Amino acid sequence: MNEIKTLNSGEKFAHASVGSLKNFEGKQFVKDATGATSCEISFGTLPSGASVPFFHSHKANEENYIILSGCGKFQVDDNVFNIAEGSVIRVATNCDRNIKCTSEEPMCYICIQAKEGSLGAYTMTDADITERTSLL
Ligand code: ZN
Repeated sequence: MNEIKTLNSGEKFAHASVGSLKNFEGKQFVKDATGATSCEISFGTLPSGASVPFFHSHKANEENYIILSGCGKFQVDDNVFNIAEGSVIRVATNCDRNIKCTSEEPMCYICIQAKEGSLGAYTMTDADITERTSLL
């Protein structure tokens, strides 16, 4: 199991890392390391042939799964479809979901949980271009 570490933080930010995803194993939740208030993010991996050992459903949060490597199958209630690196899957509240790795390489994915229906403004409808001297 990889540990998540908070590497940098300030009043307005936090930077955490689980380290290299090539060697990442298990499941790691991020919210406590970053202090996130709008969503929960987790890193997960499944070895070849494995699925999450249970189905689950959420009451208030939708989930967005982003597949980073490997391929497999995703089930939402009685619907099953193939997924692979680059897939993004949104799953609404009040339905059962599970994910299975069918590739020889492990499947690595990120899951983002956020309150269903909470997204109002986004990208440039929520952003302002600001004047700041770059220190990068
Ligand atoms: Zn979930």
